Amino acid sequence: MLIAYTTRLEFDELDTKTVMSDRKAAVVTGSSSGIGLGIAESFASNGMNVVLSGIEDASEVEPIRARLETQYSVSVIYVRSDLTVAAGARHLIKAAQDAFGRIDVLVNNAGIQHVSPVEDFPDEKWELILSLNLSAAFYTCKAALPMMKQQGWGRVINIASAHALVASPMKAAYVAAKHGVLGFTKTLALEVAEQGITVNAICPGYVWTPLVEKQIPETAAARGMTSDQVINDVILSSHPNKAFVTIEQVAALTQFLCSDSAESITGSALPVDGGWTAH
Ligand code: NAD
Repeated sequence: MLIAYTTRLEFDELDTKTVMSDRKAAVVTGSSSGIGLGIAESFASNGMNVVLSGIEDASEVEPIRARLETQYSVSVIYVRSDLTVAAGARHLIKAAQDAFGRIDVLVNNAGIQHVSPVEDFPDEKWELILSLNLSAAFYTCKAALPMMKQQGWGRVINIASAHALVASPMKAAYVAAKHGVLGFTKTLALEVAEQGITVNAICPGYVWTPLVEKQIPETAAARGMTSDQVINDVILSSHPNKAFVTIEQVAALTQFLCSDSAESITGSALPVDGGWTAH
């Protein structure tokens, strides 16, 4: 089932046939790639139905969607939706409800980065990063909470960053948005604490994904360094263990937060950062 909506496109296909299932249903934003895809795969491998989300054409994501569905015998849909606008976030949640009749887990993971000193930071990049990395989580949660409350159970997991806890130069919008995500996480956790819903933020250090790959040349240009210098002297110098975090490590913590054993963990910032924020 493919459902598409962006600010630039009308609905190009809308199939609202609901899959009734006892399986839990998880929405993972930004799951056509990187960390989000790893989390989506972990959910599917644990028997959950999954909503993949991204801005890529459905045809690009179809091989991934079909593989997850076949490999793990669960239902997987892809919703193409621009989450920098509130309407896109609302559309994603409605499409998930229409498809599965339930939303048990919401992972706010979609995010982008731009590296530049504040004086040169393009206004439109600031707005875009705040919209996607912060406001989208507000709009998806606002839309999904009524269903979680009705179910009396829910898990909201916001993929923040070590940059929700500490800052780095040249990343003003990203750091501001991620600190904001943490504040939002704590506030929402308090609001829904008596309703069986937990809300947490995972704060990864550097994970090797397209997002990090893209910022290496940007950082190299901004700091007058080579790419190797950026990897060793900027990125891995932040991690006392000198290793990238893996997608699987972030996915495993996300999976644990969805378990009953984690029901007392809420309003927390959980670093997975090789020791970075212990500095
Ligand atoms: P990625 O670039 O691999 O994937 C980004 C995803 O976001 C894609 O699925 C893309 O379709 C989606 N996306 C982009 N623009 C969108 C838009 N306008 N509307 C909806 N979706 C959009 O990124 P990643 O490295 O896997 O990062 C995922 C999350 O993890 C981000 O929030 C990022 O800030 C956070 N994070 C990443 C790292 C890291 O080192 N990679 C570290 C800490 C936190």
